[in-house]
Amino acid sequence: MKFLATHIKHRFQFFRWLYFSVIAATLVLMWTGQPARSENFVVYFPNAHSILPLKTYENVRYLPVLKLLKVFGHVARVRSKKKELRVWFESTELQFHQNNRVVRLNKAKLRLSNPPQNIEGEWMVPVDFVTQILPTLINQNVEYQVGENRLFIGNISPNSFTLQMQPMQGGARLTFQFAEPVNLRTAARNGKWILYLGNRPVEPAESNFEFRNAYISRVQYDDQDGHPKLILTPAMAGLDFYPVLGNGEKTLVTEIMKPEVAATAPAPAGPQPAPEPQPAPSQPAAAAAAAKPPTAAPAPTPTTSLLPAVVLDPGHGGSDLGASGGNGLLEKDLTAQIVARVSKALQATGRYQIILTRTGDQTVNFDQRATIANTAHPIAFISFHAGNLGPSTPRVMVYTYQPSSPVALAPGADPRPLFIPWAKVQLGYLNRSQQLAQDLQQDLQKDTGVAGSPPMGVPLRVLRSIAAPAVAIEVGSLAPGSNPAPLTQKSFQDGIAAAVVQALGNFQGGQP
Ligand SMILES: [Zn+2]
Repeated sequence: MKFLATHIKHRFQFFRWLYFSVIAATLVLMWTGQPARSENFVVYFPNAHSILPLKTYENVRYLPVLKLLKVFGHVARVRSKKKELRVWFESTELQFHQNNRVVRLNKAKLRLSNPPQNIEGEWMVPVDFVTQILPTLINQNVEYQVGENRLFIGNISPNSFTLQMQPMQGGARLTFQFAEPVNLRTAARNGKWILYLGNRPVEPAESNFEFRNAYISRVQYDDQDGHPKLILTPAMAGLDFYPVLGNGEKTLVTEIMKPEVAATAPAPAGPQPAPEPQPAPSQPAAAAAAAKPPTAAPAPTPTTSLLPAVVLDPGHGGSDLGASGGNGLLEKDLTAQIVARVSKALQATGRYQIILTRTGDQTVNFDQRATIANTAHPIAFISFHAGNLGPSTPRVMVYTYQPSSPVALAPGADPRPLFIPWAKVQLGYLNRSQQLAQDLQQDLQKDTGVAGSPPMGVPLRVLRSIAAPAVAIEVGSLAPGSNPAPLTQKSFQDGIAAAVVQALGNFQGGQP
């Protein structure tokens, strides 16, 4: 009896051991059969890029060899057996053997750091294939930094940057110094800020920066989708973010601030963040200055930054003059005048925080305007223009964005539809934009006494990337033969300001 019990117990232990070893074996199989990590590998050519899946097995990084070869040329024939792969690529016959680090190219033998692997029917080669074998297969310059997920082919000099973090009162300042100019676009996703750096590939000296700071915790360089960008992780929610690009588009200063501080702090030294709320915008035009009462000392209320933001965009500026009228009146000055009046009227309601895309006579490009607007998360973006609206004057038109060709919003074949393409941002706001345009059109007609036509959808570049209800107001006519005097009249400009105040009030009230 006793013997039997012991025997059973042993048998039980034996089966239990067997059972666990089966689990362990299954785990090992799964472990080696599945990548520990799945990433992308980006191949940059001078005017294009290709993305390949990169897989890591037992600490070795592999690329799918057939997909890789097809990026560089014509694969005429493939013969794949269980342990051997033969590929006819351009004029070279390549032979790979599982468990053999030697690869044959016609008669020559070249060596990889690790043997190729046939994993679930796909032949994979270790990443050093791109430095050990690829250069002899293609007649092009190959640049690869060991350990990185990007490869540069041909005549490319990738951009690079350095990053400096500077703590500030109530915030932090990040200064990115680029070797070459960048084309900046911003977006916000999942509580992170994303700074797209244009199409030029970047080879960062360092791609991950961690900070022990109350405002910013991490900056990462990422180009996994083929689009060079910086991903900024704020250390807490509810911070404001002011990126300003300067010094020939090579220096990017981004200030990350607590909203209260941003509204009341004195102007910091160094580059001035453009989108700070300005109680009284400077007046570039002498005509408007005369009509404007002397500005009292700015006294923003402490709650300013908690108010919903409205972004006003004076069209043109700096070297971009815009249209001009018969007496030499420039569109850039007229839009600044009108925006100053609209801003003052909106400030007077005490209901909004007003942000201007330019506060003086400087050149601001479309992406910079969109950057300022999108980082403010406004309830509305209103762009102001003046142009040739035909012989009768004054006239007022209201526009919303309409793509020049039909654009599908569906993510399509993009395997990582994480980011809405910058050029399609406004499409998500079109209904609200059209609603605001309707309200504005009616109020403009009422308050300026000028009969107008219904709002129109046009492919306006300045509205295209605005992540908010966005409209453009154009006054006219401002053309060489026209008399622009009615457009500079106080009553006309005050009418526009009153209409904007009323339309925004309606628009906000109508929000669900
Ligand atoms: Zn214009």
